Amino acid sequence: MRQGRIKTIHQWLQEGKLSCEELTEAFLRRMEQQKQLNAYITQTGELALSQARAVDGKRKEKRPLGLLEGVPMTLKDNISTRGVRTTCASKMLENYIPIYDAAVWERLQKEQAVLLGKSNLDEFAMGSSGETSYYGATRNPVRLSCVPGGSSSGTAAAVAANLAVYGLGSDTGGSIRQPASFCGIIGVKPTYGAVSRRGLIAHASGLDQIGPICATVEDAAIVLDAISFCDPQDSTSVQAVREPCVERLGKEISGLRFGVVQEYGRGTIPEVDQAMEEGAKILESLGAQRITIKIPALQCALPVYYILSCAQAASNLGRYDGVRFGHRASHYDSIPDLIGKSRGEGFGKEVKHRILLGTYVLSQEYYDAYYRKAQQLQKEIQKSFAQAFVQCDFLLSPTTSGTAYGIGEKEKCVDHYQTDICTVPANLAGLPAVSIPCGRDHTGLPIGMQLTGPKFSEPMLLQAAYCFEQYTDACYQTGKDWKESLWNMNL
Ligand code: GLN
Repeated sequence: MRQGRIKTIHQWLQEGKLSCEELTEAFLRRMEQQKQLNAYITQTGELALSQARAVDGKRKEKRPLGLLEGVPMTLKDNISTRGVRTTCASKMLENYIPIYDAAVWERLQKEQAVLLGKSNLDEFAMGSSGETSYYGATRNPVRLSCVPGGSSSGTAAAVAANLAVYGLGSDTGGSIRQPASFCGIIGVKPTYGAVSRRGLIAHASGLDQIGPICATVEDAAIVLDAISFCDPQDSTSVQAVREPCVERLGKEISGLRFGVVQEYGRGTIPEVDQAMEEGAKILESLGAQRITIKIPALQCALPVYYILSCAQAASNLGRYDGVRFGHRASHYDSIPDLIGKSRGEGFGKEVKHRILLGTYVLSQEYYDAYYRKAQQLQKEIQKSFAQAFVQCDFLLSPTTSGTAYGIGEKEKCVDHYQTDICTVPANLAGLPAVSIPCGRDHTGLPIGMQLTGPKFSEPMLLQAAYCFEQYTDACYQTGKDWKESLWNMNL
């Protein structure tokens, strides 16, 4: 059985194979060597080393370490960190230093996690390629000329290139799963409400969720268990009674039924369809039962997502006016001029585009035609999923219809939006979904398979993903790379 990165490192630290400071230094060196990936916006080397020394102090006293203790990791740069710049990859927040920590970071600090830095993203998490960042595009470590996917571009690139053991991203319409898929690793978007959003800088509050991006399913289960809790300070947080994900790993999936949904569409390259067929066969060989399912409502998921998310984004981003928050223009004649110039200078093209779209669909004249209609359709989608889960335990689909594409290759925003077709339904319905590597295209780029389940079915999804991972070792490449590189880091 393949052991995840977190347990391996935990063992090394516990057995004294190396100190946490040495480990952290090795990661920091690697981050310097891999600057061309542009995975990090801010590196927090000093902070990481001081956190590592604290863990070493505990090790010297021979006290037992928690699983995540001393494990170097990264946070997407829209997750607030007290005293550490949090930019959202925007010029608007270039100099923003939060005065409080996001709930997830509070949790991980209690576990003595070591923060290597804040990773790159599409500006305000709006994008599917990592190209809209004010701090430049991130590169895909599997192929440098390609995008790593987005918007958690830097987190996925960092984990795939072993510039962090694991990372946290955010997913509004696919931003954890799609980059995980493009980089050949694991991404989990939890049930809406399972992980606190307190301190996550909002994109579309009704859809945003924080979740883990990891190299193995075991790592994802450990991290997800650590960050899932009901937060009284997040009104959308839910008290769920579910068993820990890690307890289900290794259990068989015979008897589970999975549905293959036609409406997710076919792959834009034949290898994606082939990989899904292979994936389904593997699940069957593991004892799961395949059924075919129709969810016609999914056909409208993409426009519904873009109407709702742009409307919510337009409203959320209203606070960045140069007066209350964000970049302030230096020359202006009046208050309206100050606001206009600050927003004009602070936001990039894609963000402005969405604010305009969102404002339009919320305007009095068009509210019923677009926003209200989209809300009604969202309810239809939720109902259709509920009906589907009467017939099966989880759904299988590609994470994306194609594989990573060249940086700069897609010019039109609509072409980017198309790549979210398989990921947005889970957000609209608030469901958990996992992306797991499932083979490669003929050029060697990773393909991702998505498992979507009913609310709070994360333990079952990860159980199935774990069985699949153990069976196929489809992400062996990633596993092999990280192990070799870690051992070769002259620790
Ligand atoms: N690609 C989608 C968008 O641009 C999803 C973004 C996200 O999940 N943060 O809206």
